[in-house]
Amino acid sequence: MNVEPQIQAKLLDLAAVDTEMARIAYRRKNLPEQQEVDRLEGERTSRKDAAVAVEIVLDDLDRDIRKLEGEVDAVRQRAERDRTMMESGSVGAKQLAELQHELGSLERRQGILEDELLEVMERREASEADHQHAGANLSRVEEELIEAERRRDESVADLDVAQNRCVNDRESLGGALPGELLALYEREHGKHGVGAALLQARRCGACRIELDRGEIARIANTPADAVVRCPECGAILVRTKESGL
Ligand SMILES: [Zn+2]
Repeated sequence: MNVEPQIQAKLLDLAAVDTEMARIAYRRKNLPEQQEVDRLEGERTSRKDAAVAVEIVLDDLDRDIRKLEGEVDAVRQRAERDRTMMESGSVGAKQLAELQHELGSLERRQGILEDELLEVMERREASEADHQHAGANLSRVEEELIEAERRRDESVADLDVAQNRCVNDRESLGGALPGELLALYEREHGKHGVGAALLQARRCGACRIELDRGEIARIANTPADAVVRCPECGAILVRTKESGL
């Protein structure tokens, strides 16, 4: 294939655009802003789990409180009924003694239940504080996440702009090249990621391998408009004054 050296040199511009595109793709895949979003999403999940765990504890304590309150109520009503009966004067001495005895038991029972209730209510208060703490932690992570997503979106938008610029540059550079040369470039680019490179100081700019004397002599004897390729990696070798020929 024969192409004017000035046209061949345009391949280096195209290769530079492709290098930039590869850089953009790498950056997109390894975006630190995305890693931060991922980290915060993980933290949000564990904060949510922690908040739910505290809610379950609160629900359990509320159920315990309702149960104890019900028990205290029942004891109180029973004592109330006993007292009414005792005051009615309609009971005999034996029953009166029994009622007094029961009343004593009911009062002790009520005292125990009220102590228990107090203890559970204190635990509920502590859990309520935990719950508020968990909620505050969750809100903080959610705010951080919104901010991190905004920074991520900005970086992605910047990459999109750079990417579009590359696509346009690629199109105009490619349009100025003979179809056959461009096809060869694209094929090599598709294979190894580098379609063309500068031959510089006898070294291939794509694979960085230094060509042996025989190869350099062969290339030096090739007409300037001949398209030569690296014998190692297949990239199109663009020759300039710096090529060391
Ligand atoms: Zn090479």
